[in-house]
Amino acid sequence: MQVPSHVEYERAASLEHALSLLTRPETRVLAGGHSLIPMMKLRLAQPELLVDINGLTELAYIRRDGDKLRIGALARHADLLDSAVAGECFPIFHDAERVVADPIVRLWGTIGGSLCQADPSEDLSAVFAAVRATAVIRGQAGNRTVPVREFHLGPYETVIGPGELLAEIRVPVRPATGSAYEKVSRRVGDWSIAAAGVVLTLNGKKIQEAGIGLTAVGAEHFVAAEAEDFLGGRAPDEDTFRQAAAIAAEHCHPVADQRGPEDFKRHLVAELTARALRRAAERAAS
Ligand SMILES: Cc1cc2nc3c(=O)[nH]c(=O)nc-3n(C[C@H](O)[C@H](O)[C@H](O)COP(=O)(O)OP(=O)(O)OC[C@H]3O[C@@H](n4cnc5c(N)ncnc54)[C@H](O)[C@@H]3O)c2cc1C
Repeated sequence: MQVPSHVEYERAASLEHALSLLTRPETRVLAGGHSLIPMMKLRLAQPELLVDINGLTELAYIRRDGDKLRIGALARHADLLDSAVAGECFPIFHDAERVVADPIVRLWGTIGGSLCQADPSEDLSAVFAAVRATAVIRGQAGNRTVPVREFHLGPYETVIGPGELLAEIRVPVRPATGSAYEKVSRRVGDWSIAAAGVVLTLNGKKIQEAGIGLTAVGAEHFVAAEAEDFLGGRAPDEDTFRQAAAIAAEHCHPVADQRGPEDFKRHLVAELTARALRRAAERAAS
């Protein structure tokens, strides 16, 4: 099946307009459309109404506000890749965006759409989990905030309810912090076989806090929590990194599919986590 079923379309004229339309049953936000439209063509999604938010340019921004980086849900992948302030605070964003899809998808696909799609292979879900971001969800009654680590309820499912949309993602900016993302895919522009994102905050010669996000390997909430706990308070050296990477590989839940068998994916998790830890530590120290 390559033809979507009947659907109504409304272009939101304002945020309030979008929120009022979203209270109708079987309604979906249309952002870049790069995930939703293919799913509609396959009839995996059959909304009755699409609310196009592409006119809501007030949701398309990336800026630093004190100790927070604020990313509007309608910012595109290409905007994040081009953003100097995002790259300075968190090189992990540029590492990841260089390997998300291809330039056309990056020009249309939005940061909000990536998170809301909740695909287990979505690179940015692991990245925003690693940086311990907060999602700002807007409804007619106002804003509510949810840690990105609690935003995804499972594959293709988030905490966003009827009448709500994702408005912003906030990331705490801390000193002495380095970050990196490492991905392996079958070819350029493809989804991850496996990927690892790391954020390290150092306190002198010790790791104060670690964030590790894993892509496409069944990590709960995209997080390698046991490896993060192991790293806290330890020296950022090769032995520590190797042990943490082995813990991350042990505790994730990859499944065999066309991208490879389970043991291969666990091997990738260990190797990519170790590489990302090394690069994040170098960046934190520089
Ligand atoms: C060829 C191809 C290759 C790709 N490769 C990769 C890859 O390597 N890595 C990767 O991570 N991704 C990849 N993607 C996916 C892509 O990055 C994102 O899934 C896509 O950009 C989603 O963003 P969108 O704006 O297009 O969302 P849409 O398709 O418009 O929406 C996706 C879902 O999110 C909902 N939604 C969107 N915005 C909001 C909002 N603000 N509030 C509430 N709900 C919202 C929609 O209702 C829908 O359910 C690829 C996509 C394609 C087509």
